[in-house]
Amino acid sequence: MNAHVLDGKAFAAKLRITIADHVAALQAGHGIVPGLAVVLVGEDPASQVYVRSKGKMTVEVGMRSFEHRLPDTTSEADLLALIAQLNADPAVHGILVQLPLPGHLNSDLVINSIDPAKDVDGFHISNVGLLGTGQKAMVPCTPLGCLMLLRDHHGSLAGKHAVVIGRSNIVGKPMAQLLLGDSCTVTIAHSRTADLPAMVRQADIVVAAVGRPQMVQGDWIKPGATVIDVGINRIAADDGGTRLVGDVDYDSCAAVAGAITPVPGGVGPMTIACLLANTVTACCRAGGLAEPEGLTV
Ligand code: NDP
Repeated sequence: MNAHVLDGKAFAAKLRITIADHVAALQAGHGIVPGLAVVLVGEDPASQVYVRSKGKMTVEVGMRSFEHRLPDTTSEADLLALIAQLNADPAVHGILVQLPLPGHLNSDLVINSIDPAKDVDGFHISNVGLLGTGQKAMVPCTPLGCLMLLRDHHGSLAGKHAVVIGRSNIVGKPMAQLLLGDSCTVTIAHSRTADLPAMVRQADIVVAAVGRPQMVQGDWIKPGATVIDVGINRIAADDGGTRLVGDVDYDSCAAVAGAITPVPGGVGPMTIACLLANTVTACCRAGGLAEPEGLTV
């Protein structure tokens, strides 16, 4: 195994220390404590785990955490009323509605009811438009975390060919926008891409955001390329339990790649750290204060 391992867990831990320093400075200098509100509708077990760890890490960096757990029978009107209340609350600088929402709720409507300045997930249509036009936006957390790892490893990304596998609004599309913003030549691949392995073989940077366990194989990777594995998939383990794997076949890809993110411990920890970073950024923008360096693009 030759590839340099991009240790997202360590990077995220360092980022959280930086964030905690900024939070302390905001409080000491301006009497402001950044606040993050997380709204969870329903009982989805994975979402409950995410919301719990988001709340814990929010408090650990010194910010205020507001958790709103609503039953899965919650009406759209009640959810929109809660979001309106959070939009108006000056103690809340970031609002995150945990997805997926139960089927009777219109996710687009709900997300677009969040004040774009508090949309720390970066999914509001205004933030999507701002990012797409190269303006100051709230940037989606997972792609932001991937970009931070890539910049840290490469310095400049200009001129590199990046292939992003996946075109979701949450990962693939914003990832492609960020890479384009850093002057990569970007290809977006998806389920209808012809000869995906040949496409991936051209890439200096591969970002896999597919949701298919271990799909990307070592013989798809150009020697020395950087591989960012966004996937989180639970599969059966040899001991009868389960284990987490990415969308990349780690062993075969690590044998060829120049650098690679592991799963777990790669992109995953960066996502929550970037959520905290976005909340600090939103707080500074709301207060008309200078934004700390290195927390967003
Ligand atoms: P989606 O299901 O929304 O999108 C998957 C994308 O992969 C689609 O664009 C789809 O193409 C494409 N795709 C599916 N099958 C193939 C295939 N055989 N060949 C090429 N492309 C294919 O997933 P998300 O973007 O939300 O998430 C992707 C992965 O990232 C998941 O494993 C998810 O768990 C993980 N994830 C991890 C996060 C983290 O914090 N680390 C955060 C968010 C997601 P098409 O559009 O044509 O259907």
